[in-house]
Amino acid sequence: IIEMGQPEHSVVTTCAYCGVGCSFKAEMKGDKVVRMVPYKGGDANHGHSCVKGRFAFGYATHKDRIKAPMIRESITDPWQEVSWEEAINFAATRLKGIQAKYGRESVGGITSSRCTNEESYLVQKLVRAAFGNNNTDTCARVCHSPTGYGLKVTMGESAGTQNFDSVMKSDVIMVIGANPTDAHPVFGSMMRRRLREGADLIVADPRHIDLLKTPHLKKAQHLALRPGSNVALVNAIAHVVVTEGLEDRAFVEKRCDMESYEKWREFIRDERHSPEAVEATTGVAADKVRQAARTYATAKNGAIYYGLGVTEHSQGSTMVMGIANLAMATGNIGREGVGVNPLRGQNNVQGSCDMGSFPHELPGYQHVSDDTARAHFESVWGVKLDNEPGLRIPNMFDSAIAGEFKALYVQGEDIAQSDPGTQHVEKALRSLECLIVQDLFLNETAKFAHVLLPGSSFLEKNGTFTNAERRINRVRKVMPPIAGKEDWEITVDLSNALGYPMHYNHPSEIMDEIASLTPTFTGVNYDRLDELGSIQWPCNDENPVGMPTMHVDDFPIGKGRFSVTEYVATDERTNSRFPLLLTTGRILSQYNVGAQTRRTENQAWHNEDVLDIHPSDAEVRGIKENDWLGITSRAGQTVLRARITDKVLPGVVYTTFHHPGSGANVITTDNSDWATNCPEYKVTAVQVERVSQP
Ligand code: SF4
Repeated sequence: IIEMGQPEHSVVTTCAYCGVGCSFKAEMKGDKVVRMVPYKGGDANHGHSCVKGRFAFGYATHKDRIKAPMIRESITDPWQEVSWEEAINFAATRLKGIQAKYGRESVGGITSSRCTNEESYLVQKLVRAAFGNNNTDTCARVCHSPTGYGLKVTMGESAGTQNFDSVMKSDVIMVIGANPTDAHPVFGSMMRRRLREGADLIVADPRHIDLLKTPHLKKAQHLALRPGSNVALVNAIAHVVVTEGLEDRAFVEKRCDMESYEKWREFIRDERHSPEAVEATTGVAADKVRQAARTYATAKNGAIYYGLGVTEHSQGSTMVMGIANLAMATGNIGREGVGVNPLRGQNNVQGSCDMGSFPHELPGYQHVSDDTARAHFESVWGVKLDNEPGLRIPNMFDSAIAGEFKALYVQGEDIAQSDPGTQHVEKALRSLECLIVQDLFLNETAKFAHVLLPGSSFLEKNGTFTNAERRINRVRKVMPPIAGKEDWEITVDLSNALGYPMHYNHPSEIMDEIASLTPTFTGVNYDRLDELGSIQWPCNDENPVGMPTMHVDDFPIGKGRFSVTEYVATDERTNSRFPLLLTTGRILSQYNVGAQTRRTENQAWHNEDVLDIHPSDAEVRGIKENDWLGITSRAGQTVLRARITDKVLPGVVYTTFHHPGSGANVITTDNSDWATNCPEYKVTAVQVERVSQP
């Protein structure tokens, strides 16, 4: 794809990797991309970029791209290339037959946080209106669903409170379970700039992340907690705030629901939440916790940023609520420099949640049981809608194995590689009578598919992504779709073949429909996005150009609500058989399961996943650098090479999951968040021992 030479024209579009949502100028020669140049006018990145956005776009024209639709009767048959019409009719006939035989609840759809808002909107519309049920979900299920739940319960909106620029006004930056310099590099650099200017840093993470090595850092505190003890730690910090009188009483009395506050205060004051009482649980010295609590609570502006190290736990939602409690108790909400800020992993996690991809919520987080909201959608869509939430992704798997759920449409998500419990997922996929995969590549999920619909990369389509700061950015088509259709057109064709008519000439018309149905989007359309550059929702009559900082005067629920956040230890425990705790994460040059980045030059920088192990744990096992290691958990076994490093704590091992062979999801457990079923990827008890080369 990279042909050096003078570009003939350029198109401004948005990076399709992480939740920072950097704007780029795709410089073109004919319909070939010459280079991607970070766009100075980008509201999220101000002309900056990282190695993924700038260099890792070659996957779009990689030889592995599927260029024609394919079908097969059974998953043991070879693939057969067919026309679009034949593939769509094959899929529709199977879906209709399955619903006629097993009922309308027997089918469902999954969209991806990699897709545009318009594509995700259409998938959930297809499921609700054409399939006739609420069995729709998104891969946000396995990353930030606890954010959606926790922030909605406490502050009334399932989204972060700030824009990225806000960090430049923070005096204390608390980073919990996130590694921004690798996973959100452009925002990580912005954080570093603020830290160099003198802001204090508090990191709560089992790993010694690179942010702690920021040059000229004035003050850094590292709370190196044991995986799985987040809630105990945040409660201990809040305990110090309350018992040492560090609360912002004026804020609490003016902005928060006092009944919930008094109940929480009574709970958190209890001595069992003190840093000393939970020291053995968290592994963090009590005086360090006290110091961190004082630093955060007494800051003029204290901001919290968190990632999947918060959400991907059996208490992910509890932890999000614990963070919100802490921010409200200290008055760190409603102005620049403060807030509660989830760092979304994928480019459009926020958007896919906003678009109603979850089985219990219509677009704009309107619950399916809300009669008024449902009536609005029914009048625009011209169908009767179910008022009961449908199946979540893990329920779909269980139901498939039980023989009840029979067909699945998956758009842009490799569930066989990315979801936990690989054996269980594969068994579920094998049980389906029809699996329709819409993707760029023949991924791991496609091994179990009956229909393969070739998707389009971000360079081949129009649409929008919404980044971690609620910023809606335009995605603009720079080249024609390799297989002839943009993803939204495929969903439209499938719906029409099923007998539910959809007609759009351009994704802008889909956005117009979204805006007509979603109160926080009423002021969003493509003309305004072109004019303003980007828009941070809510954008409506009250906020005509969007809202950089949320909850300035009040919360969408009126008063902020405190939640009692009881710490409950995960079922996943270490013992003599499984004495170490495995946690997982990402590195700078690769991205998630690597489907894109492994097909670019970035592959050279990280061509295998390895296991990080502390020198003391390596020594007692006789492990040397680069030795092959067998990693065994209660769920399964995998083999990785050793990297000995004191970046991890003694007793903790760490790996990435960018390569199919890593087996990270073979060994993770089936524990999940109590409220949302987000898998507990971050805590797996394992044994590690040397093995001969696999
Ligand atoms: Fe893309 Fe994220 Fe890198 Fe920006 S920081 S270029 S959005 S991967």
